Amino acid sequence: MIKSINPTVKAMKPSGIRKFFDLANTMKGVISLGVGEPDFDTPWHICENAIHSMSVGKTHYTANRGLLELRQAICQFHAIRYHQNYDSEHETLVTVGGSEAIDLAMRTLVEPGDEVIVLDPNYVAYAPTIELAGGIPVPIVLKEETEFKLLPGELKAAITPKTKAMIINYPSNPTGGVMTKEDYEKLVPIIKESGIYVVSDEIYAELSFDQEFASLAQFDEVRDQIIVVNGFSKAFAMTGWRLGYALANRDVSDAMTKIHQYVIMSAPTQAQYAAIEAMTHGLDDVIRMRNDYLNRRNLLVNRLNRMGLDTNMPHGTFYVFPNIQKTGMTCEEFCEKLLEKEKVACVPGNAFGEHGEGFIRISYAYSIDHLKEACDRIEHFLQNLD
Ligand code: PMP
Repeated sequence: MIKSINPTVKAMKPSGIRKFFDLANTMKGVISLGVGEPDFDTPWHICENAIHSMSVGKTHYTANRGLLELRQAICQFHAIRYHQNYDSEHETLVTVGGSEAIDLAMRTLVEPGDEVIVLDPNYVAYAPTIELAGGIPVPIVLKEETEFKLLPGELKAAITPKTKAMIINYPSNPTGGVMTKEDYEKLVPIIKESGIYVVSDEIYAELSFDQEFASLAQFDEVRDQIIVVNGFSKAFAMTGWRLGYALANRDVSDAMTKIHQYVIMSAPTQAQYAAIEAMTHGLDDVIRMRNDYLNRRNLLVNRLNRMGLDTNMPHGTFYVFPNIQKTGMTCEEFCEKLLEKEKVACVPGNAFGEHGEGFIRISYAYSIDHLKEACDRIEHFLQNLD
């Protein structure tokens, strides 16, 4: 008899996002509001730098940590835009998407039985990654009334002697919630005193709308406890290039690099050349796309509230998270019926954790026309509920 595979993997649930879209893909005429990636193509000058690199024979491995020129560009970008200071030689690791950086951080920090605090609702990959590393995800429930922010009292209550780390994501997928510098300030003493690490997934940093992006890594007192995860997918519309990075103190970064060296070697070389161009000449594109997202957000939030779906104004990302409790349906029922009756695909909030129940996630990484058509259909759906 063939031996069994790892039970942790066996017990892992498939992503609630994918499950739903596999169903939508079997139907004709479906309008999707589900996908979490920019509808823009990568700006051409960024692509060109990759093409140029190949034309001059840059088709080999790079250093394990990534091209030094890229790491320098990343550190400069972070210093100027986010007031985060990291050393390009020892504290920066270029990875295969932010996804790899999250996995490496967990495998570097977590020992079997360690608790890792996660926020609920939050991005789908965190809990499985923690479990694969042998850790135990411990949720903190986020509330709509407090704009899905992490509050100091709740953090304090969740920390036990077994807590090794916490993973957070602001601006947040799926809620669009953000944390301000003042919000973080209140968490800093708790993080410092407990000595826990914080993996801060800042992949939507450039998609902060109404206030300046803030990060725990801006506080010197806890800077060495923070692992910043970021990448090119969202800000520069580069999902397919699979490039991200982690910024962390030297010990943590060295340890992450050891794993990366054995399992990846180095992130794709052409993508790294594209990323140098993105970091050094891509900011205008980011601003152009952000302005577009902002217009779409305003249109969508307005329409949803007018048609009776209570929707908080999200201050970041390209997601809105309407409350559907008034309809009396569960989030899965709502999404299934909306798909069946009006052929609009959204993601049920519980795909992002138990406490996403009562909400749906709508992505506005789609054209205004697409969003208008989707809103018309949702409105029709709501008007015809029995
Ligand atoms: N973190 C969050 C919060 C995300 O939404 C995503 C992508 N959906 C990722 C990380 C992974 O991004 P990447 O393409 O850089 O691996």
